Amino acid sequence: MDNIPKKGARLNSKNGIRSAIKDFFKVAVEKEQFNLVLMPMKVPSQDSYAWMMIKDIELLKDANPIAPIMPVNAANAIKRYTRKGNGSYKIAAIVRPCEIRAIIELVKLNQIKLDTLTLFSYDCVGALPMQDYIANPEKGEVDFNKIVDERTYDSKIVKDTCELCDKCSMPAATDLHFAIDKDEVILIPNSEKGEKIVETLDIETQGITSLLADWSKDMNSIISKRAKARKTEFENVAKIAVGLDNLKDTFANCIGCHNCNSVCPICYCRQCYFDSTANKPNTDFIKIRADKKGALGYPQDKIMFHVGRMAHMSLSCINCGLCSDACPVDIPVAKIFSYTGAQTQEAFDYIAGNSVGDALPMRDYKLEELGELKDLVKSVEAEEGDHE
Ligand code: SF4
Ligand code: SF4
Repeated sequence: MDNIPKKGARLNSKNGIRSAIKDFFKVAVEKEQFNLVLMPMKVPSQDSYAWMMIKDIELLKDANPIAPIMPVNAANAIKRYTRKGNGSYKIAAIVRPCEIRAIIELVKLNQIKLDTLTLFSYDCVGALPMQDYIANPEKGEVDFNKIVDERTYDSKIVKDTCELCDKCSMPAATDLHFAIDKDEVILIPNSEKGEKIVETLDIETQGITSLLADWSKDMNSIISKRAKARKTEFENVAKIAVGLDNLKDTFANCIGCHNCNSVCPICYCRQCYFDSTANKPNTDFIKIRADKKGALGYPQDKIMFHVGRMAHMSLSCINCGLCSDACPVDIPVAKIFSYTGAQTQEAFDYIAGNSVGDALPMRDYKLEELGELKDLVKSVEAEEGDHE
């Protein structure tokens, strides 16, 4: 976070963080700022969460704005809801920072429209790995609530991609952001839409300047610790992600289920080439390839699938970790894609999901980007050399 936010308002937090947030939405709907609120709610079996588009504000009591898990990236839900245009209802969505970043990338890729949508985010300690939560949901709730209440940003119980996330608080990317301070929730507006809502709801602003300064200082120190951990861990990830031989080893157990592809909010193609009939060769073709190698394994083209996905979406990977959650054979897919994403984004001086205003490189092609692409290839080749 480069600058201390200039505006903010204090929510009544005497009943805890989640109540403060839910009470805010209750009042906002009552005062007709929104018609619908998108928030996670537990499924009837109580062992997972689902996104709920809430119309009846009485149901807000059963929702959880800061859920312990992220079974589906909210960008995927919003993508579906706005695919045929926005409609006329005003929707508020409260989602994690990585989900905001995915939404921003999908806006640039013409997959999401923001016209009637107001985006809210919050300071995120991380999310629990799905498998850990499902194994014992009650324990998951208790453990997660503890790290939220104690503002523990270096907990080992969250997903490994969350531990390394240095974009855990991005007020500037949203219309409104819930900054979670030691004892209260501060609402930070960052757009005309957001400012109008704070003004209309007439929320307490006394003492906000010093509160925002203290919170920013605190959050900057958390972010810089995370950035350091990320840099160190990426040196380890490079050892399994750089070079064909390493990739072959890393993905040796891949069963070709393509779960990592289908849960990824950025993989938005309606028909993936690798699942299409064009990629279902007949036995003549198999024979030609087997002739060259002596034998042809199945699942085939495992590395091509992963490298193809990297080439398609690494500029927009937002480190949400869903691909690892979905992998049935425990391949650290998210770490590998986050690492690749970080390298690609750095080469283009681009931060995925930072702002709708930042142009997505290579979408609007510029001649000078050819030089950047060459630099990227050279740096990958150099790194390959280092790890040989
Ligand atoms: S590749 Fe994995 S970590 Fe990156 S956006 Fe897709 S699901 Fe999230
Ligand atoms: S989810 Fe895991 S096993 Fe399935 S295709 Fe992706 S890496 Fe391979």
